[in-house]
Amino acid sequence: PSLTRGVTVEVPKVSWEDIGGLQDLKPKAVDFTVKVNVNILFDVYIWPLYSQKKLQQAVEWPIIHQSAFSRMGISPKRGVLLHGPPGCSKTTLAKAAANAAQASFFSLSGAELFSMYVGEGEALLRSTFQRARVAAPSIIFFDEADVVAGKRGDSSSNSSTVAERLLSTLLTEMDGLEQAKGILVLAATNRPHAIDAALMRPGRFDLVLYVPPPDKEARLEILNVHTRNMAIDDDVDLRTIAENTELFTGAELEGLCREAGIVALRENISTGVVCNHHFQTALSSLKPALTRADIE
Ligand code: ATP
Repeated sequence: PSLTRGVTVEVPKVSWEDIGGLQDLKPKAVDFTVKVNVNILFDVYIWPLYSQKKLQQAVEWPIIHQSAFSRMGISPKRGVLLHGPPGCSKTTLAKAAANAAQASFFSLSGAELFSMYVGEGEALLRSTFQRARVAAPSIIFFDEADVVAGKRGDSSSNSSTVAERLLSTLLTEMDGLEQAKGILVLAATNRPHAIDAALMRPGRFDLVLYVPPPDKEARLEILNVHTRNMAIDDDVDLRTIAENTELFTGAELEGLCREAGIVALRENISTGVVCNHHFQTALSSLKPALTRADIE
């Protein structure tokens, strides 16, 4: 089997402008210190401000201003953990970061590594880091990180051995990044508390960013992004739609715009312009998956 299975390499086309909201978020701390195993000696830097700028700095600066970093004797971050509900742009942020830094983008999925034959997942992990070193500057995006980087001893014997071997390979590779320049690992999870404490030590994932569901202003920006190339009528008031879509994720807002477009086309395939009533019809058929409890 090919060692490149499941890996995609590209400099993504998504840019920061394609992401609505997230720039002026309210601080929201995640208390890892309570949840992780306190017996393990570790030092977690939790940044209380979660914004694109933080990610932008963590990603772009070390790559763009590499020599300034060496002059200052500062070693750039090696790992950033993005966490938050599904569909709220973790993947998109990682891609935008890679685009901004003109970095090669390697994408791995924890679930996919986990499902591979014994040894194959580890080999893929190692070869991905190897290829990222060759292609540097690189970003390795590691989706569903908790599947591989979950706390040791959490699951049943067989599956936990597989996960442990993958985790220890990941740790070895992260530590090996010390010498490598211009490689950043961005991991994403919906379950940050399930992440093994060993990964949260400085020099591994020492920047933790919460990617929240969008608030009203962010929803408006997301609606703007996804109607940018759409013929919409003057009677569409995106601000009101943003107000009426509480708990919708970015992915669901994108779905709403697409659905409104389809409703309009169904009505008139040749001169279809999306009007307010198309949005209302689409809206009446969609329900957000998140509940208030998910975000509080
Ligand atoms: P998952 O946890 O399910 O992998 P995710 O947090 O990585 O989800 P993405 O895959 O980045 O979410 O987002 C899904 C889709 O939703 C993207 O195609 C993107 O276009 C849209 N989307 C999500 N959030 C935003 C946003 N803030 N602005 C614009 N589009 C967004």
